[in-house]
Amino acid sequence: MYMDIASLLGNIPQPDFSNPSKAIESYWRIDKEAVSIKMEIDSVFNKYYLTDEAIKRDQTSTKNFCEYDHKKRIVNIDEQSPDTAIVYIEELRFLGADEFDKCRIYVRKIYNEWRLEKKERVCFFCQGTGSNKHTANKKEPCHNCLGAGWQEDYL
Ligand SMILES: [Zn+2]
Repeated sequence: MYMDIASLLGNIPQPDFSNPSKAIESYWRIDKEAVSIKMEIDSVFNKYYLTDEAIKRDQTSTKNFCEYDHKKRIVNIDEQSPDTAIVYIEELRFLGADEFDKCRIYVRKIYNEWRLEKKERVCFFCQGTGSNKHTANKKEPCHNCLGAGWQEDYL
């Protein structure tokens, strides 16, 4: 029943931490690899735990997840200091979305290699304006991002 996990790990590409964009692209590659490994592991267990109908549904939703999750691109790199940068990216939030969401990833150089620190997405509620569009007083800050225009997101 248990498959050889080590054989799945053989395909993982070497990371490149030499600059902010390469570090982010390496992370996206490993993240994509991790999703496909999880899919393989799931498919082994699912045979034992799920009905055929549930397996079919699960395969479709996982396939959709994999397809949309990797439509992202780097649009700009804002070097804050020799050791920190903010990388602006665009990504599709879900399959079939017709607009890319604007996001930004904070990266930091640690011992001469770049690592990802946190990610923010343009606030869904105010679209980055920071103001509350649901009140007459437009100067009132957005209830979601408290006026920042950005909200934290998972990497
Ligand atoms: Zn907001």
